[in-house]
Amino acid sequence: MVVEPKVKGFLCITAHPEGCKENVRRQIEYAKSQEKRECPKKVLVIGSSTGYGLASRISAAYIGGADTLGIMFEKESNGKRTATPGYYNTKAFEEFATKDGLYAKTINGDAFSKEIKDLTIETIKSDLGKVDMVIYSLAAPRRTMADGTVYQSTLKTTGKDFTEKSWNVDTNVVFEATIPSATEEEIEATVKVMGGEDWMDWMDALKEADVLSDEAITVAYSYIGPELTYPVYNHGTIGMAKKHLFESSQKINEKYGESGVKAYVSVNKALVTQASSAIPIVPLYFAVLYKIMKAHGNHEGCIEQMARLYTEKLFNGAPVVDETGKIRLDDWELSEDIQAEVMDIWSKITTENINELADVDGYFEDFYHMFGFKFDNIDYSKDVEI
Ligand code: NAD
Repeated sequence: MVVEPKVKGFLCITAHPEGCKENVRRQIEYAKSQEKRECPKKVLVIGSSTGYGLASRISAAYIGGADTLGIMFEKESNGKRTATPGYYNTKAFEEFATKDGLYAKTINGDAFSKEIKDLTIETIKSDLGKVDMVIYSLAAPRRTMADGTVYQSTLKTTGKDFTEKSWNVDTNVVFEATIPSATEEEIEATVKVMGGEDWMDWMDALKEADVLSDEAITVAYSYIGPELTYPVYNHGTIGMAKKHLFESSQKINEKYGESGVKAYVSVNKALVTQASSAIPIVPLYFAVLYKIMKAHGNHEGCIEQMARLYTEKLFNGAPVVDETGKIRLDDWELSEDIQAEVMDIWSKITTENINELADVDGYFEDFYHMFGFKFDNIDYSKDVEI
């Protein structure tokens, strides 16, 4: 069938299989163009199908030459509706990697569950023996516990309500949005979903099953951002979860450090992904940031970020961390000159001048590319197998 984008709010409910394949192909081309590194050769990526996790998997495979096992939570097509982009991305990645002589298998299911952890361990045992790197790149709206309790993550402030400029991407209008403050329960639930408890559970399960090699590395992803977005991000519910994620990296190091396992949190750049486009206020910041970083020639997407993680931060002799022990891939985003220009534009931006002051086209290019649309070398008028 002919597949067209159907955008609903910050989501597109269709995905183009050929376009998703093109998205993956381009990321693989970029990774292949990087200098090869001595990297882990057997890598488990939890949250491997889109955004940072997909780019991590591609970097592991095409910079490090690794066999990869991915975990994702994606929907197949039912014959009428398209599959989710992560599903098509993964099919494409597996096809490319297998053709290139790399092992690439993916488990589709709830990473929070014991069943999926057990299946992953069985698969590692039978196919890989052990893994020497675990990338934790989940971005989930909810978590179901073994007893059926469901925790829902929210994107709210903590403390008092917060009002700031925001952008309605449907109408291209800049307006003032107020983000309400979260209750204690909402904060706790967000920490349950997006904090480090499940990362720790994974590490415990892998260690107990003896499928982690000596000196295995594990990395999870975080964000800090500029002071402008602190109330909605760093000091918000999601920021509390990220704080817990970092504390979990320290716990993993305390518990398993002696056996050689090292845990890191990498603070990545703000980028348009399915998870991040849902955060209020942040998309306007993205569009302004993209404009400035592109003008400075240091804009990066997920694959450029993850390639830099591999080639400059993690496997360049010794891991490069800040004074708190975090890897900083947000170094260029948060540099003084970039942020001074962001703040200058932020103070001036309105509905009337947004197209001139922000990278609206760049934002939408990334948005549509995530779902496999608007690639100039794909003929979207043709029928495709969904
Ligand atoms: P994303 O939405 O593109 O990817 C999320 C991944 O998690 C997908 O592979 C999805 O299938 C998987 N997933 C979700 N729920 C799952 C479940 N229950 N079981 C198994 N898999 C599940 O998100 P992203 O933006 O790439 O985020 C990945 C990580 O990077 C998050 O921790 C996020 O906070 C962090 N991060 C994102 C940004 C950004 O601006 N996008 C910046 C810094 C850090």
